[in-house]
Parts: sequence; C-alpha cells; structure tokens
Amino acid sequence: MTLPIRLRLTAWYFAILAVVLCAFGVSAYIEMRHSIRKTVDEELQIRAEGVHQLIVRVIQRGQKEDLPDGLREHTELRQGGALLQVSDEQGNWLYRSTVMSDYGVPRPSSNTRRITEYLGKEVPLRIWNEKVSVGGESYFIQSAFEMDDFYEALDHFELMLYISIPTLLLCAAGGGYWISTRALSPVDQITQTARTISAQNLSSRLLVPDTGDELQRLSETLNGMLERLEAAFKKITQFTADASHELRTPVAVMRTRAELSLRKARSPEEYREVIAEVLAELEKTSALIEQLMFLARADSGAETLHFTPTNVAEVLHEACHQGSALAEAKQIGFKEQIPSDSLWILGDASSLRRLFLILIDNAVKYTPANGRVEVSLQRNDGFAVAEVRDTGIGIAEADLPNVFERFYRADKARTRELGGVGLGLSIGRWITEVHAGTIEVHSAPGSGSIFQIRLPISSSANINT
Ligand code: ADP
Repeated sequence: MTLPIRLRLTAWYFAILAVVLCAFGVSAYIEMRHSIRKTVDEELQIRAEGVHQLIVRVIQRGQKEDLPDGLREHTELRQGGALLQVSDEQGNWLYRSTVMSDYGVPRPSSNTRRITEYLGKEVPLRIWNEKVSVGGESYFIQSAFEMDDFYEALDHFELMLYISIPTLLLCAAGGGYWISTRALSPVDQITQTARTISAQNLSSRLLVPDTGDELQRLSETLNGMLERLEAAFKKITQFTADASHELRTPVAVMRTRAELSLRKARSPEEYREVIAEVLAELEKTSALIEQLMFLARADSGAETLHFTPTNVAEVLHEACHQGSALAEAKQIGFKEQIPSDSLWILGDASSLRRLFLILIDNAVKYTPANGRVEVSLQRNDGFAVAEVRDTGIGIAEADLPNVFERFYRADKARTRELGGVGLGLSIGRWITEVHAGTIEVHSAPGSGSIFQIRLPISSSANINT
C-alpha cells in the first residue's frame, strides 16, 4: 500500500531533519569537549612550565636541597598550585600537594603519555605529565585539573540535546504535515470535483486557484482537457443524432411507398414504379451506410491505408473518366487538364480516387445543366496541386468554413433533393489530411466553386519513377 503524499512528504522531512539535527548535536558535543580539554591542557602546560623554570633557577643557584621548600612556596602563591606533584628519577617526592596525595595520583612511569585522565575519589582529573632534565638529573612534573564541573556541564549539554532534538523533530514533523496538508488541499478539491464529472455534466469545470503555481496550471490544463473532451463528445452525440435522422428518412419514405402501393390492387407498371423508387432509396441508404462505416473506421483508426508510390496524374485521370460520364448525363461540359507525365506521391491510390470522385461528383451535382466542370493537376513548389472548378450554384461565405463538417449542407432542402447528406467533404478532408495535404475551397454564390487539394510530392516516391 502506498502512503498518501502528505505522509510521505512528512516522513522525508522528518528523516532529513533527524539526520541534520543528530549530526549537529554530535558535532556540537564533540567540539565543546575538545575546546574544554584544549583550554585545560594549555593552562596545565603553562603551570608545568612555571615549575620547570623554578627547578632550573634553584639548581643553578646550587641549592638543590631547597627544592621542596621552593616548590611549596611557588605552588602556594599560584592559583591551582594545590594540584601539583614533583618527583625525581628515583621516585622520591620532591613536592606533593595534599590534594594530590588525597586523590592518590600515581607517579608517572617512562611510558606514561603526556596527558592522562585519572579518577581520584570519583573526581575526574586531567593530568599534564612532563619530564624535564636539569643539571644532569630528571624530574617529573605533574600538574592536574579537576574536570568535574566541566564534565557536568558537558553531561548537561548532552541531556539537553537528548530532550531538545526529539522535541524539535516532533514539532517540525507536525508543522511539515500541516504545511503539506495545506499545500495539497487544492488537489483534494480537484479530485473531488473531477470525480463528479461524467458524460452527463461534461460542461462542469474545475475551480482554478489564483495562485500562479503548479496547481493553477494543473487545473487549467485539466479544464482545457475537459473542454476538448466536451467538444469531441458533443460532436459524437451530434453525429449519432444526424446519422440516425438520415437513416430514418429514407426508411420512412420506403415504408410509406410500400404501404400506399399495398392499399389496393395495382397494375404491374405501378408496382414496377414503386419498386424502382424503393430501390433508388435503398441505393442512397446503402451509400450513406458505407460513408458512415468509413468515418467510423477512420475515427477508430481501423481504416488502414496502404501507402505506396502513387501516380496522382493517373488516379485523377481515372476519377475524371467516371466524372465525365456523370457530367455528360447532366449535359455539363467536362474538361480535364492533367499533364501527360507522371506525378508521384506516397499515397493510397483507392482513397485518393475516392477523394477526387467526391469533388468531381459534388461539382457535377451542384452545377446546373449547360454549366462546366474543369479538373486540373500541376506540380507546384514540391506539391501536387489538384483543382476541381465548376460554374455551379456556389457556396455562401457563411457556409464556407463549415462545408467540411460532418452532415453539413449549405442549403439543406436543395442538397437533399440533389442526393447529398453532407458527408462527402468530411471524408475528403480526412483522406487529404492522412496524406499530409491540405484542402481549400474558394466559392461565391452564383459564380461556381474551386476546390483545391495540395499533396506533398515525396522524394522517396520519386525514386521509383
Ligand atoms: P453532400 O453529400 O451533401 O454533397 P459534402 O460534404 O460533399 O456533402 O458537401 C457539403 C456541402 O457543401 C454540400 O451539401 C453543399 O451544400 C456544399 N458543396 C459541396 N461542394 C459544392 C460545390 N461544388 N458547389 C456548391 N456547393 C457545394
């Protein structure tokens, strides 16, 4: 189980602070002990040096037997003198203060270190052991310091660390938990609001805290995502509604025609007429179903195109062949201006043919008899540019941005009459875009339309020419 972020943050905070505080406590303790000892040692060394000087003076005066008295006088005059003892090489005491003998500080041996610690009557003593040679004889000077006060202070400091570090840690952990809870509370709010958002209320938005930080950016980003989801969801809902509407209409027409014809006995001609009408509706319906299936496959990514080096000129020419038959049937002039040399792109021939047919079919559909349709292809700036022009009814400026939308028809009544449902151009746009191309329309009511498609000429496709 993973712990909540605020607990993990607090745990990290606690662990890092614990390490830092412990390191601080240990180093402060060591440093304090070290500086106390250093100060004491310096003082002890000065005292031993003073005694050394005294011995030198007495010996130089040739009054060796006065040494014990001299040492006594010297120590009584000086502060700390009560903690001194001097012995000669043979182990005789030349001077030993009462306190030192009370504590029982032993004579040094040859391997005694310069500084030693000794516990005399439970009082910790720090002893400076100095061996000096004067007038050919050696003397051992031992000057000591009672460390009980210092060590007590150190113990006190240690105790204070033991109490204050855990207390500090607890306070800091509490504070850290409080801060992270506060900092993360907007995340809880975001989570709660996000939980309430479903397909039914996709228009709800998260509250955006005006903090200028990551949380504000997170809420804004999530809101942007919701906006896109809402738009996509609306499109799908609209598409489903439009699709069912478009499917219901021809079914209703066919049903009415069939019911009417069955009301009384009809002549074979009349039945034939009805069947022909029903068949025409069925053809339109199956074309619509095919278009819907294509878009569904395109949306789900199931529409697989086979990109191979394709000669656009040839594909467009084939489309024109079909288109010219349609134009002829409607008494529309059809002109084809396609260069005889090949123009290779990397594309899927059958979907490109479909795209050109959609444009030519539209041009013929929306151009009255005696009008003209012209199809051209040229190479321009690394693009194969195909154009389908007509002298038809044209498109109003307000409709132009929408003609590529699904089920959009500029003039609903008229276009339905002409057999359009408004899916052709959206399929065309999809095909163009998967070929990394662009599709544009220029049109004005009454003066015809120009649909232009630009497809990038692929250098790898050219290799195969
Ligand atoms: P449809 O099946 O209705 O033709 P499209 O998606 O191909 O659907 O076209 C969308 C709408 O754009 C058409 O309904 C029509 O109003 C308009 N349109 C398309 N091509 C032309 C054209 N060449 N001339 C005039 N209007 C056109």
